[in-house]
Amino acid sequence: MTATIPQPQISNEKAKPALKWGLIGWVSLLHLGALLAFFPSFFNWSAVGLAVFLHGLTCGVGVEIGWHRMASHRSFECRKWVERFFILCGTLSGMATPLAWVGLHRLHHARSDKDGDPHNAAKGFVWSHVRWMIYKDRESWSKIPELTKDWQDDPFVQFCDRHYVAIQLTFAAILFAIGGLPWVIWGMFVRTVLVWHTIWFVNSGAHKFGYRNFETDDRSTNVWWLLLPTYGGCWHNNHHAFPQSARCGLKWWEIDLSWGLISTLHKVGLVTKVRLPNI
Ligand SMILES: [Zn+2]
Ligand SMILES: [Zn+2]
Repeated sequence: MTATIPQPQISNEKAKPALKWGLIGWVSLLHLGALLAFFPSFFNWSAVGLAVFLHGLTCGVGVEIGWHRMASHRSFECRKWVERFFILCGTLSGMATPLAWVGLHRLHHARSDKDGDPHNAAKGFVWSHVRWMIYKDRESWSKIPELTKDWQDDPFVQFCDRHYVAIQLTFAAILFAIGGLPWVIWGMFVRTVLVWHTIWFVNSGAHKFGYRNFETDDRSTNVWWLLLPTYGGCWHNNHHAFPQSARCGLKWWEIDLSWGLISTLHKVGLVTKVRLPNI
């Protein structure tokens, strides 16, 4: 049986715009750390390859397939070890804890581009890209427990949520032990900053640029030039039209790399109960 996705209760209460200085400092620090990649002593090709590989693993497999299509939208089910692998890869993206990400994303779909959407694109590109995050939004965050009821009792999700920071530090230590500072700078700093902007661009650019196949009740768009970094998450208007579909690229030219992996895993029996658009 497919799990039911909880829906939010929306009130008109406005959040106070207090700044989240800890988050601002953390985001700034990682951007500054990424600049170290320009120093020749921190450059080598294995570190660049690592950053590309980890972008695919954490942004594509982790966030787009794992957190987004599987955890947030329940567009397919899979073996427990595969599910946990997806959840862990998403956690290594450094975007947020799994429950926070899933809760806020479900809130985005429930209120897309209206009051109550945490990254409401009607408030402008910069707001929906990054600015929404730097303010304390108690109303949105208070809805996360209600919106993630179906994942809260999962012990592995609880583990990733509780030990979110320790997991990042452990991963950085492993990279340092193997490849030294270049692997930390490219594998953690550069890669994390690129993953952030990739997913943020779906919230901003894929609610502003591009074309629409469906007249959805929001500003969502399909943006072909985001295909590679988003692994198919760029077909965002299709996604808003059919949020519970495991496949987002719907026309023959809308290549969907994430769907390619999901359908392959389905063929070999690791993924089941795949949902598709009813068109
Ligand atoms: Zn959206
Ligand atoms: Zn979604």
